Amino acid sequence: MAPPASSRRSRRPAPELLFGDLWPYDPAPETADPRIRAEYDLFIGGRFVPAADGTRFTSINPATERPLTELARGGPADVDAACRAAASAFPRWSRLPGAERGKYLFRLARLLQDRAREFAVAETMDNGKPIRETRDFDVPSAAAHFFYHAGWADKLAYLAPGRTVAPLGVVGQVIPWNFPLLMLAWKIAPALAAGNCVVLKPASNTPLTAVKLAELLQEAELPPGVVNIVTGPGATGAHLLAHPLVSKVAFTGSTEVGKVILRSVAGAGKRLTMELGGKAANIVFADAPLDQAVEGIVNGIFFNQGQVCCAGSRLLVQESVAERVVAQLRRRLRVLRVGDPLDKNTDLGAIVSREQRDVIRGYLRAGVAEGAELWQAPFRAPARGFYVPPAVFTGVTQSHRIAREEIFGPVLSVLTFRTVEEAVEKANNTPYGLSAGVWTDKGSLILRLATELRAGVVWANTFNKFDPASPFGGYKESGFGREGGRHGLLDYCAVA
Ligand code: NAP
Ligand code: MG
Repeated sequence: MAPPASSRRSRRPAPELLFGDLWPYDPAPETADPRIRAEYDLFIGGRFVPAADGTRFTSINPATERPLTELARGGPADVDAACRAAASAFPRWSRLPGAERGKYLFRLARLLQDRAREFAVAETMDNGKPIRETRDFDVPSAAAHFFYHAGWADKLAYLAPGRTVAPLGVVGQVIPWNFPLLMLAWKIAPALAAGNCVVLKPASNTPLTAVKLAELLQEAELPPGVVNIVTGPGATGAHLLAHPLVSKVAFTGSTEVGKVILRSVAGAGKRLTMELGGKAANIVFADAPLDQAVEGIVNGIFFNQGQVCCAGSRLLVQESVAERVVAQLRRRLRVLRVGDPLDKNTDLGAIVSREQRDVIRGYLRAGVAEGAELWQAPFRAPARGFYVPPAVFTGVTQSHRIAREEIFGPVLSVLTFRTVEEAVEKANNTPYGLSAGVWTDKGSLILRLATELRAGVVWANTFNKFDPASPFGGYKESGFGREGGRHGLLDYCAVA
């Protein structure tokens, strides 16, 4: 047993807390039953059906490395069946009065709320992210997206007053593993509100909440074929997006795969939305409320273990306060809890997969090899699972790989600047342009940066704030098209 914290503290004058000083909390596991079946089939035409070739794959829990469930591995024949089901559901669904379509979306939102704890536990087990985030962010935000778009379903005429707004037909949607249920909601809710039918492929690391949602679709009595879910690998996604019945492609994932998709569908006349990677600058000026800024930096890069497309992975801090901000940041990071994602006290859970953990470790090595200084929060690794403690690189230059490439992990690169012009130039010096953060006391500076930063979203004195009514999307290699709000809905409509 360690001596009580008070007696240890008296012997240690150092201002920075050591690992042993973390308050010893009792375990606080979330105990709701995730209701995970041993096997899941594909969801096509309103029914669960096995893959045509009968093959399956396993989804694991990255916090324990144990298998969670077996899923059907959809192939080209299954994709074809799903696209046909969607195409045959489309005429009736698109002609339903908007208010009727809205009823289904409201129903789905409420069913998701009813089973929020169950979905939160399932998402945490499949992805490794902390229960606090799935419970307080992923699941409520997913429900909010269904509610928001339910409200639009009978008001489509107001999207583009004086013009005709029509659905596009069958939409092919492929999503990543970092916010599995939320990305599904971002995709399905606007597509259905606008009168489209959907075939969606979730990421193979995190397919669980998508197939669980298929159960809710049945419970909501959504007409068969309006939403079809085909689980499987990347190749299944490629078949789907290239399918001739798909008239709109909506992809969220890496820039690399986005480019492959763009090449494969070029000239096919499909409408496209690409939500790709990012390397956001979080810019802290000397006049900013620094305590709040430090919280914003932590939230910006360590939320969801840094596996966030809009993560504030580059901290640009004004030189005069850089030392203070970094010291404060390290103090804060020492008391973050890394560990069992199902524990309600956990701040950082597991990385989604062994591969992703190894990619992050590769970047940690690259940063050190290129001459940046690495600091990592003290951390006791659990016996199993893929964990990476918070990491901060100082002495980073713009040419370092850790400053240029998307790491998608809990790794912050700190750069400094002196003038506003230098901050803007450094922030924009990236092939990406998804998001940015600005911390300052001056409203005029915020407005100036909001126009000068080439980023789809610019947060001011906050970070990682989302709302279904607020469009989200990128510039440059972060993609095109928007999700959320009126703009996101218009991307699912033909306007004449
Ligand atoms: P990814 O490797 O690009 O995979 C994304 C999805 O595409 C997965 O479902 C994947 O299937 C599938 N896929 C792979 N190859 C494909 C192909 N040739 N054709 C069609 N689909 C294919 O990305 P990830 O590693 O899952 O996710 C991380 C990336 O997503 C990051 O770059 C991040 O920035 C980005 N992201 C962007 C946003 C945004 O809104 N801008 C939001 C979240 C994430 P498998 O899983 O089976 O391989
Ligand atoms: Mg999994």
